[in-house]
Amino acid sequence: MSAAEQVLATALALNVSGINRGTAGNVSVRQGEGFLITPTGMAYDACTAEDMVFVSFAGEAQGRRKPSSEWRFHRDIYQARNEAGAIVHAHSPFAVSLACQGYAIPSFNYMVARFGGADVRCAGYATFGTQELSDRIVEALVGRSACLMAHHGMVVFGRDLATALAQAIELETLCEQFWRVLALGQPRLLPDEEMARVLARFADYGRQK
Ligand code: 13P
Ligand code: ZN
Repeated sequence: MSAAEQVLATALALNVSGINRGTAGNVSVRQGEGFLITPTGMAYDACTAEDMVFVSFAGEAQGRRKPSSEWRFHRDIYQARNEAGAIVHAHSPFAVSLACQGYAIPSFNYMVARFGGADVRCAGYATFGTQELSDRIVEALVGRSACLMAHHGMVVFGRDLATALAQAIELETLCEQFWRVLALGQPRLLPDEEMARVLARFADYGRQK
């Protein structure tokens, strides 16, 4: 599969998994001095691989479509984080619900550490498509591979598209679990020392021989 076909397949998988609906969200993969990203405002099932757009780190788009309105935060994450090979932005229901209330995800469950720290932060609100939103996201991602976005959604990155997709599903699952815990009362949190132990274990967790 070409890189453009893989971006489109990932976007379609987000719809199938219920993470995204309609034209919400966007997907990209790093490519040389830029990245390939989904087009703005198009339903993924109406797209072909040729509709994916290359955007250079200088912000110049090449292709027959206009790039996602969120190309700035995709560019800025690739430039700030060498380890980012692919990015998924989603309006998944449980992440959006928490983000609308401005909640970060605290250490209610050890799996929070999958995203790099003892919590998953919520980036402050800014209008979609703006540099201000991008700046807030990059700040919320320091030391993390995911964040919520106030009154908007979530963003995750991974070393490749398969990892970013899996992480988006994992984060939405965690958001659903936290939402259910909140319904039971004051969440009980794991202490920082335990989260530090979990983080150390995750450093080589799941590496098969
Ligand atoms: P695009 O269709 O421009 O990618 O926008 C969708 C979105 O989620 C904006 O935040
Ligand atoms: Zn969005």
